[in-house]
Amino acid sequence: TAASDGLVIEGIHTTYDRVDVLTGVSLRVLPGQITCILGANGAGKSTLIRSILGLTPAYRGRIRFNGEDITRLPTHRIVSRGIACIPEGRKVFAKLSVEENLRAGAYLEPSAREIAHRLEHVYAVFPRLAERAGQLAGTMSGGEQAMVSIGRGMMAAPQLLIIDEPSLGLSPLYVKENFAVIERLHSFGSTVLLVEQNVHQTLAIAHRGYVLAQGHVVAEGSARELADNPRVKEAYFG
Ligand code: ATP
Repeated sequence: TAASDGLVIEGIHTTYDRVDVLTGVSLRVLPGQITCILGANGAGKSTLIRSILGLTPAYRGRIRFNGEDITRLPTHRIVSRGIACIPEGRKVFAKLSVEENLRAGAYLEPSAREIAHRLEHVYAVFPRLAERAGQLAGTMSGGEQAMVSIGRGMMAAPQLLIIDEPSLGLSPLYVKENFAVIERLHSFGSTVLLVEQNVHQTLAIAHRGYVLAQGHVVAEGSARELADNPRVKEAYFG
């Protein structure tokens, strides 16, 4: 049924100042899966996220979420349909406690009972956050701050979580912890669209993926197929 279609993108074109940056991108994010977008610098990954969120809407093609056309909805309406984005950098409110950070993610939810319920879920996924609920977020370790940031995104109870994750330049330990956090999130049923540059670690946790180069999809398939696909290497180093 349409309600379980997930995110379906059909041939979108997106432009900045009349220069086309996305030229006919199609892809699909199935509920319950981790789908990844790989691609080198400048391939159009951030622009794709901007188009999904309605920040730089596609001028051609169509984006549907659970059967509904969201291509040209304003961002707040797209977010209220259940799409949340965790931006790169994993910013937390350093001077607020872990729990205050989490509660900030549910600011659209009026019911205290519902918020308590969501908090319980985040704490079940990340018990470390429950142990540290009163600690200032700025004093948490890098990996723990990633949990806070993702936990805050979960507090909106999204049906799709977009994670913008350029792990390039981050310490290997931090990157490893970050991927573990995303895998754990998935094991509790979340649907994730992961935008990454780190091919190996991304394909190790993703189900399916798409490779972007110069604004279009040059390869797609299961994570295993992509791992063996020479076009993946070309997209980065070709
Ligand atoms: P990275 O991994 O380096 O963040 P990316 O795959 O996310 O790269 P985009 O940021 O989507 O790539 O950029 C795609 C192309 O669009 C680039 O050539 C970039 O210079 C251009 N671009 C991005 N934002 C704008 C903008 N606001 N105005 C004009 N051109 C832009």
